Amino acid sequence: MMMGLATDGGLLIPESVPFIPAETLRTWAKLPFQTLAFEVMSPFIGDEIPADDLKSLIDRAYASFAHKEITPVVKVGDKRILELFHGPTLAFKDVALQFLGNLFEYLLARDGGHLNILGATSGDTGSAAIHGVRGKSNIRIFILHPDGRVSPIQERQMTTVLDDNVHNIAIRGSFDDGQAIVKALFNDLEFKKSHSLGAVNSINWARILAQIVYYFYAWGRATGGDDSQRLVFSVPTGNFGDIYAGYLAMQMGLPVSKLILATNRNDILSRFVREGVYEVGDVHPTISPSMDIQVSSNFERYLFDLLGRDADAVRACMADLAEKGRFSISEEKRALMNETFAAAAVSEEETLEQIRATHSETGYLLDPHTAVGVAAAADYPGAICLATAHPAKFGAAVQSAIGQEPELPGPLADLMDRETRQVLLDADAAVIKQHMLDVIDG
Ligand SMILES: *Cc1c(COP(=O)(O)O)cnc(C)c1O
Repeated sequence: MMMGLATDGGLLIPESVPFIPAETLRTWAKLPFQTLAFEVMSPFIGDEIPADDLKSLIDRAYASFAHKEITPVVKVGDKRILELFHGPTLAFKDVALQFLGNLFEYLLARDGGHLNILGATSGDTGSAAIHGVRGKSNIRIFILHPDGRVSPIQERQMTTVLDDNVHNIAIRGSFDDGQAIVKALFNDLEFKKSHSLGAVNSINWARILAQIVYYFYAWGRATGGDDSQRLVFSVPTGNFGDIYAGYLAMQMGLPVSKLILATNRNDILSRFVREGVYEVGDVHPTISPSMDIQVSSNFERYLFDLLGRDADAVRACMADLAEKGRFSISEEKRALMNETFAAAAVSEEETLEQIRATHSETGYLLDPHTAVGVAAAADYPGAICLATAHPAKFGAAVQSAIGQEPELPGPLADLMDRETRQVLLDADAAVIKQHMLDVIDG
C-alpha cells in the first residue's frame, strides 16, 4: 500500500485470494456496509491492523457519505443500479479513496514517516484522492490532470481545495501522458525513495481491496443471500480497477455469472475481450471522459492470472506492448477469459440515447459513464449496473440528452464560484519532478 508500484515496475498483488464458504456468504448478505467491509477486508489484512482500529478506520471513511446505505441498490426498469456516487466528490472512487486517506494517515502516525502522493487523473481519481487526504498529517498530494480535458465540475472539485498539502498540476497533454509521467517518476527509484512517493491511482492495491466490498454488498441486497442466484454485473471500465475488484470477488466465491466490461469508443479492453488482441490506438475525448484511456494500468493484474500466473509470459506481453504497441493471447486463453467476461464498446450516440430512454421510461437520470454500462447490458435483464458518477457531475452530456441540466447536490451548489489554485506545466517528467522538488524543499 505504501509503495504503490513494485520496485521492478510491475504491479503488486496478493499471494493468494481467500475463499469465502457459502454458509459465510449467506450470513454476509444482510450485513450493513461497514460491517461487511470489515469482513471482506480482514482476511487480506490479517493481523497487520488490529480489528478495532480497522473497524474505526472503516467507520470514519464512510461517515462522509450522504446515503445511510453507502452504496444502495435501486431498481430501474429491468436493471438494478448500484449507486456508488454518494461520497464527497460524487464518483465511485470515493468508496476507495475515503478509506485510503484514513489508512495512510493511520499507518504514518503509527509507523512514522511522511508521504508525497503523486497521481494522474482523467478527472475523478484526482478529486476523490484530494478529498481523501486533504488536511491529513504527514501527507502531501500532487495531482496531474490534462488541461482542459476534464469537466468544469471535475476541475473545480480539485482546484477549489485550498489546503496547504494539496498541489494541482494541469499538464499540456492527455491523461495517458500524465499516467506515463507518473510511471516514469515512480521508476526513478532514487527520487521515489528519497521523497517517499506514494500512489493513489488504482495501481494501489488498497483501492482495489476497498472496491471488492460493494460487489458483495450488491449481491446480498439483490439476492437476500440465496447463493443459487448468480448475477451479472455491468461495469463501465477505464483502467480496469473497478472490474478487477469484481473479478476478485468472484475468486473469493461470490456467485457471479458474468462481468460485462463496458467501454466507450476508447475500446482497447473491449476489443481484447472479444478478439484477444491488445492494441494501443489514439485516445478519443468522449462524454464519459473518466474512461478515455488506451493503456489500462490494472489490466496486467488480470493478465497474470489469465496466463496461469506466469510472470515471464506477462513480461513478454508487456515487452511486446512497449516495442510493437500490441500483444495477443491464444484462442484457448481468449475462450477462458470469455467464461468470465463479456464486453461491449458503446458509441457517443448510444450513450446519449440510453440516458434519454432510461429517463423517459423510468424518470431515472444516468450519468454518461453509467449509461455506457447500462447500454452494454442491454441483453442482460436483471443485471446489476454499477453507477460510477452522479449525473450532475457530467451535466453537459445529460443536458444534451434530455434538454435539462441536473442540479448539483446542495453542498456543491456554489462550486463554480469558489476560489481556485493550480499550476500549468508541460507534459514532461523532468519538469514535473522539478516542480515537486521546489514545493517539497520550498
Ligand atoms: C474512474 C471511473 C471509471 C473507470 O473506472 P476504472 O476503475 O478505471 O475502470 C468509470 N466511471 C467513472 C465515473 C470513473 O470516475
